[in-house]
Amino acid sequence: MLFGALEAGGTKMVLATFDEGGRMLRRESIPTRTPEETMPEMLAFFERESIAALGIGSFGPLDLNPDSPEYGSITATPKLAWRGYPLRRHFVEALGVPVGIDTDVNGAALAEATLGAAKGLGSCVYVTVGTGIGGGVIIGGRPVHGLMHPELGHMLLCPSPEDPAPEGFCPYHRHCAEGLAAGPALQKRWGVPGNRLPPEHPAWGLEAEYLAQMCVNITLTLSPERIILGGGVMGQERLLPAIRERTAALLGGYVAPLNRDLTDYITAPGLGIESGITGAYLLAREAYDCQSDPV
Ligand code: ZN
Repeated sequence: MLFGALEAGGTKMVLATFDEGGRMLRRESIPTRTPEETMPEMLAFFERESIAALGIGSFGPLDLNPDSPEYGSITATPKLAWRGYPLRRHFVEALGVPVGIDTDVNGAALAEATLGAAKGLGSCVYVTVGTGIGGGVIIGGRPVHGLMHPELGHMLLCPSPEDPAPEGFCPYHRHCAEGLAAGPALQKRWGVPGNRLPPEHPAWGLEAEYLAQMCVNITLTLSPERIILGGGVMGQERLLPAIRERTAALLGGYVAPLNRDLTDYITAPGLGIESGITGAYLLAREAYDCQSDPV
């Protein structure tokens, strides 16, 4: 039996199949164009593989209310061609197999909690810092939903007096985490892409400050047992230790279990760049195991 996995991103779609033991058998990546151009290619891949169920970890925001007629649709995305697109329904109708869906970051968090850096813990938060900032939350072993799903990347932060662009660059909010600290914000603020900023550049101190503020807010509101930071911006090696140090300083000794070195509290992903596609596979397994879910 094969399981299909789709990591749906704004710039590319990663398609994969896994066997029952969780081994990835085949993987393809195609550019994200309009739904009319992209869907037939994705359907052809999964039809060829005769999958028993599909899991989707998608960019959002998504409608994840199982009682909603729009369940599994993409909602207010700035990617206009995909706004309102019933992603899950199209796969259910075309493939005739159970389809599970969650945000890409909730999927990645589920993968890290099941097989990666938070394995054995009941709770964790996974945040990717790249072209955007997104966060998935696992509490009690399950991804958190509710009104919608967490949108940690848009939490408001305190602009630093040392920031030459303290308003940030989010089109929706002033000084939210994504607008202040995602890759495009680094490039707009300093005029060069983050991967060309040397380690001693003041950009990284400011970046650590903002991501530490985010970790403090996550700790105080969600109380996870681990925070996992992934994404391209985290490729700067000095960032993770600086975030840990600044998070501890900002918490001021208030959260007793964290009055220690934070090396095992704020970590890199255990699955590297595979968290997202592995999460989609786990969503497929779940959809297969509970086929009474709404179609
Ligand atoms: Zn924002």
